[in-house]
Amino acid sequence: MNSLDDIQVTVLKGVGAALAATLAKLGIVSLQDLLFHLPHRYEDRTRITPMGSLGVGDVGVVEGEVVKTDLVMGRRRSLQVSLRDQSGFVVMRFFHFNAAQKNQLTEGQRVRCYGEVRPGRAGYEFYHPEYQLNPPAMPDQSQATLTPVYPLTEGIQQPRVRSLCQQALAYLKRYPIRDWLPAGMLADYQLPGISEAVALVHAPPADAPVHSLMAGQHPAQQRLVMEELLAHQLSLLRVRAQIQERKALPLLPSGDLTGRFLDSLHFRLTGAQQQVLSEIRQDLSQPLPMLRLVQGDVGSGKTVVAALAALQAINSGAQVAMMAPTEILAEQHFNNFSQWLEPLGIKLAWLSGKVKGKARITVIGQIADGEAAMVIGTHALFQEDVAFDRLGLVIVDEQHRFGVHQRLALKQKGAADELAPHQLIMTATPIPRTLAMSAYADLDTSVIDELPPGRKPIETVVLPDNRREDIIERVQQACQAGRQAYWVCTLIEESEALQCQAAEVTAEHLRERLPELKVGLVHGRLKGPEKVRIMQAFKDGALDLLVATTVIEVGVDVPNASLIIIENPERLGLAQLHQLRGRVGRGEEASFCVLMYHPPLSQNGRARLQALRESQDGFFIAEKDLEIRGPGEVLGTRQTGMMQFRLADFERDKGWIEAVRELAPALMGDHQRVDALIRRWLGDRIRYGDV
Ligand code: ADP
Ligand code: MG
Repeated sequence: MNSLDDIQVTVLKGVGAALAATLAKLGIVSLQDLLFHLPHRYEDRTRITPMGSLGVGDVGVVEGEVVKTDLVMGRRRSLQVSLRDQSGFVVMRFFHFNAAQKNQLTEGQRVRCYGEVRPGRAGYEFYHPEYQLNPPAMPDQSQATLTPVYPLTEGIQQPRVRSLCQQALAYLKRYPIRDWLPAGMLADYQLPGISEAVALVHAPPADAPVHSLMAGQHPAQQRLVMEELLAHQLSLLRVRAQIQERKALPLLPSGDLTGRFLDSLHFRLTGAQQQVLSEIRQDLSQPLPMLRLVQGDVGSGKTVVAALAALQAINSGAQVAMMAPTEILAEQHFNNFSQWLEPLGIKLAWLSGKVKGKARITVIGQIADGEAAMVIGTHALFQEDVAFDRLGLVIVDEQHRFGVHQRLALKQKGAADELAPHQLIMTATPIPRTLAMSAYADLDTSVIDELPPGRKPIETVVLPDNRREDIIERVQQACQAGRQAYWVCTLIEESEALQCQAAEVTAEHLRERLPELKVGLVHGRLKGPEKVRIMQAFKDGALDLLVATTVIEVGVDVPNASLIIIENPERLGLAQLHQLRGRVGRGEEASFCVLMYHPPLSQNGRARLQALRESQDGFFIAEKDLEIRGPGEVLGTRQTGMMQFRLADFERDKGWIEAVRELAPALMGDHQRVDALIRRWLGDRIRYGDV
């Protein structure tokens, strides 16, 4: 036994089988695991605050005596305990309490309590504070330390975790943790060693600077943050290395398919499209699997680039699989690609979860024997019984909707002879640079940073929903002038049923109000063929107005639509709104977006809608979203697993990202170090090898 990793938590006092099982749920088995269960914040209980100096939102300790204790009936029954010190009063309020509590809190009783101050009906109040009767004297200021607060799971409380960590610290003295960061680097950044850092964050000494600890800026915390970011980076680089251990078919840009395709387009590629295409071409011609992310704002023309990549694969006799996150989007791609590629003699197949029975068997057969050169569909393409004859390239559109694990599952679907397919991933969510650097470290990135010429800016207006009638008139005018419009119904409850219902009601109302217009309705609960029929009718101009749920969020492309109304935009994230708005502004006409909110708007809501009104630049908007809502929102929920840090905070710690990105590749060669760091920080959460 020579490392904390080999010592089980059961050596600690009070840890029996039951508690060990609870700890295991937090991923804690060894003492080292326990010590890497880090406090995510601190409470300052080092001093008593005079009640008279409290303000709303303050968090702190007060001490005084009970003036009176009342049972208050009101809307919700509560126990109201008034406390007094020399400077003022404060109330502790409990909505859940028992008789014993009520009986203890009698007049004159001394109480120390800790909580957050809120405005209440009886002045400043603490709701459900932690409290202590007849408190012992406060520790001497010179001895007082911050109280660490740990992430918990059911069945374990703060004081228990605190005391276990304190016990584990005693072992740390005898069995230091192995430091995997290069010593030179610690010196450069003036960071402490790992054991010192771990000890400090669990038990900050009395003289440690309170402010920097509370803000997560203490060198001990920053040392751990940087190690955590590094571990995440290494895990992604390892995914990449694992994929690239396999060879790929080199796909050569020969043959005349490309030229014929380009001739058939009614436009020329933009400089940005050409640049990105040349990066892709270069990658595809290598015997190593391409792993490339193409970012491009809404409408920048990613689809054509994908088609040209597909042609390079087909030219070389390989198959292409293209996957989109929704049925609508996949179908739209299928239609586009069919129109583009079938005239060139290329056979396409369609596969979604809704293709069943005989039809499915036929399609699977065409994929397996290579008759279909390209197959387009939803994640149904991942299913086990889908086998390719010679899969050379996988294209994933709007990747932020897929989890990284799904993406990696594709590596199993390689061509014959253990060859891995090239992967082209396209996202319409512009990803802020820092975030891209850390969340997509396994991918090379290309950016289409230019829109096709002639695009008119979209004018965005923000209006309250009591202007609904005016807005309906505006729709009427636009449609009568030959334009088309979207009306998007949103609901925050992710219940699809409710969303669809809201859309149905709205469509009904709009049909009544606008009898001279042809109004269509599309939502997630319609059957596949029905959805396609309606989308096609809208595209063909047979419908004037399309009422929709957020199913049209990504990719839908109808250039004649130049007006979009979005209901309740205050409930959506900025990136999602930007996507929705991107449904218009695709043609020659000037376009409009009406954000019809339900008042009152919160300050935050106002700021977000304002950002959208001011800017049409997806990167700017994504930066704002990152600031306001964090990386999970920018990347989409499925992917947040990647970005759940123990200690690191993306905004606060983004200064490290550049350094970590430079350091990681240099460390990759040291497998022992890489394994240890990944296991230490990511534990069992991510087993890339298995996906
Ligand atoms: P996105 O990047 O959002 O997926 P699309 O690929 O759907 O964008 O392209 C948006 C629209 O712009 C489509 O109608 C497409 O045909 C058109 N388009 C793409 N590239 C160009 C170009 N270079 N010049 C003019 N129009 C283009
Ligand atoms: Mg697209």
